[in-house]
Amino acid sequence: MKQMFVDFHCDTLLTTYLENKSLKNATGHIDLKKLVDGGALLQCFAAFIPMHETAAQYSIQDVPWDFFRKLAARYGQEANAYPDRLAPVKSFADIEKNRAKGLVSAMLTVEDGACLDGDLSRLKTMFDLGVRLITLTWNYENCLGFPNSPDPALHARGLKDFGLETLAEMDRLGILVDVSHLSEGGFWDVVRENKKPFVASHSCARALCDHSRNLTDEQLRALGDKGGVCGVNFYSRFLRAGAEHTANEDILRHMAHIADRAGMEAVALGSDFDGIDCTLEMENYSGLAQLAELIADRFGSANAEKICYQNALRVLADVMN
Ligand SMILES: [Zn+2]
Repeated sequence: MKQMFVDFHCDTLLTTYLENKSLKNATGHIDLKKLVDGGALLQCFAAFIPMHETAAQYSIQDVPWDFFRKLAARYGQEANAYPDRLAPVKSFADIEKNRAKGLVSAMLTVEDGACLDGDLSRLKTMFDLGVRLITLTWNYENCLGFPNSPDPALHARGLKDFGLETLAEMDRLGILVDVSHLSEGGFWDVVRENKKPFVASHSCARALCDHSRNLTDEQLRALGDKGGVCGVNFYSRFLRAGAEHTANEDILRHMAHIADRAGMEAVALGSDFDGIDCTLEMENYSGLAQLAELIADRFGSANAEKICYQNALRVLADVMN
């Protein structure tokens, strides 16, 4: 039987927006055909909010909230444009419904809570537009807290008061908390304050690749203890120091390490497709099936099911209302 996949993170929404493409004619790692043929059960689409020099790099002049609204509108169009193949989800039941009809599920996520700009009421608007996961920070300080940093003093900074208020409101609404990109201090605040499981949607193991974007063994253990998952990122430089190419074996090494520290129930997928500029042995979404075979060879077929989609679904069922 064809392996199904839940992928917690891609940047296809941003790249198709910037290139004025659709899921149908996208030229990157992900497009509609690759998702359908590749066995996608659920694909998360990140509305990435470019700030500061990143906004300048993409020539984006909108304030973060306006840019979020534009990407959310684009997501809404795309997620409803191919009703015989793909449909958006707003509840866990929607995922099951789509699966029964043979449709790929699409879920809107936000990468960088900066678009809240200190206004908690915006969370409800985001929720109504379909946002079910928020990556609290990207690589800049924002109204919620501080990002990961190679500087230990900076990396230790925690969430701001507004960040803690946001966690409580996300919990109430049923929006999943994502700690990828967050400082380690912020991570421990989430461990302490968040009632439900949370995720690192696209991160790897720091013990295998010493980058501040990756999680230490202590962090992985805490994430597993909370019932959360780490979506393994396919970016070569998070998998192996200095690498410019992602070999499937590098992904398997990180999966084995995360399983060893956090448990097999804590391993998931967070490809970062269309957000990474390295070459990949799997090339694009179509290569996931081949990766799944290697996962099954290494960890057994029951564990491959867990890694490829079941662990992710468990967390979504725990958090989504
Ligand atoms: Zn990211």
